[in-house]
Amino acid sequence: MLVEAKAKVEAKKAANKPAGRVTDGTQRELPWESPKPKCWICGRPGTGLKSGDCRSARRSDGRLEVHCSQGQTYAPPKGLSPGDVIKGNDDQKWAYVGEKPNGLGDGRLFSIFVIHQPKVMNTPVRTINSAVPALHVAEAPEERGITLSQLLPLDIANALKEVTKHLPYDEHVVGMNYLAGISGLVKLGTLICGNQITSYNVPPNLYIATVGRSGQKKTPLHQLTIRKPAINLLSQVADINRELFEEWIAACKDAKEDGRDKPKPPPRVSIHVSDYTGEALNALLSVLEGKKRGLLLTRDEISGLLCSMNAYRKGLGADAQQLLEIYDGHASNAIRISGDRSYERCHVSIQGNIQPEVLRDLVKTGDPDGRWARFMFLPMREMTCPLPTQVNEETIDAVRSAETVLQTYASRVFHLEPATYELDQSAIEAFCRYGHQAQPGNL
Ligand SMILES: [Zn+2]
Repeated sequence: MLVEAKAKVEAKKAANKPAGRVTDGTQRELPWESPKPKCWICGRPGTGLKSGDCRSARRSDGRLEVHCSQGQTYAPPKGLSPGDVIKGNDDQKWAYVGEKPNGLGDGRLFSIFVIHQPKVMNTPVRTINSAVPALHVAEAPEERGITLSQLLPLDIANALKEVTKHLPYDEHVVGMNYLAGISGLVKLGTLICGNQITSYNVPPNLYIATVGRSGQKKTPLHQLTIRKPAINLLSQVADINRELFEEWIAACKDAKEDGRDKPKPPPRVSIHVSDYTGEALNALLSVLEGKKRGLLLTRDEISGLLCSMNAYRKGLGADAQQLLEIYDGHASNAIRISGDRSYERCHVSIQGNIQPEVLRDLVKTGDPDGRWARFMFLPMREMTCPLPTQVNEETIDAVRSAETVLQTYASRVFHLEPATYELDQSAIEAFCRYGHQAQPGNL
């Protein structure tokens, strides 16, 4: 409906311009030509016996418009809705506008197409099955860019596609949210060696922020890519909590016998944490170090996380400072002595969201302490996606088995023994290139 309405508005706009070249009514003013050498839509020759019916003109906005005749031998694809985009036999993309009588009084119709001009905020192109062999369906624009199959092994990529099929997410947003979730599950001590010569070893953690307006379905994204894959692991975390509680009971008994004060109860261990204080985080990281576990912090809105001004008038608050320092996997002295528990190593990933206006505001003064450089920002395009209308056993089964695949991998990662992973040759080259480009002098 909206696409149709938009086409009407655009046609009207064009009609209102004095030198307007329009799709309806005022054809006499248009310098019509025969498409050459043949019609870009149906392939009808521009000259010769079968020529003549298809025609084209340049519109006032500079876009080429084609009226393709719905003939017997040559015809445009059928079953299109306004807004559909097809690939013409000139390899360009053409957007279907609508149809109209050809004006020759023989009852035949023209299908009207204009050169496709992608908008910045694109509604996904509906893919169609064309019956005309000369034409093939255009790839939807969101299928380009970084895809799940490039980022991940095929069975994980397919599972993620299945569970997010009916939600309006770009594949890079799904893939990176999933990776942030997975990166919080690896055991402490797991490292990636970026460069063997310089012993550049870092934990495989990620700080990511999805950039989108509120109401862009960011909650299901978290559920499907992070929480659900890890759901079985939460019971194992419960076991850790039970252990800690028993240790604490024993410690209390000892303290009582020795006439000392009862020790503080252990913090509740979790692998997914959304709300915490800096001191509680220190206590948790201390316990997680003992249990050799990593941690994922998830926040609906990350701007507060790094802009808290609680400790100083200028610069970062202590809690924000803490997040910057634990990025590299170890605590600074300042942090270690701030609580009553200490730790040397940690593994923390952050997954959160930020609104585009807020981000614009935050980065306009630069990034002197590198707080934003640690984050990977994932722009979320505004797009719509219809919810499934067909819910049957088959589709439910497909989703269930995709969820099982994701849970199986999460569990494997959770139990992998710590190791140092090295980059392969192509990764080393890509990383060196990136590292060089990212140096301040080259920005
Ligand atoms: Zn044609």
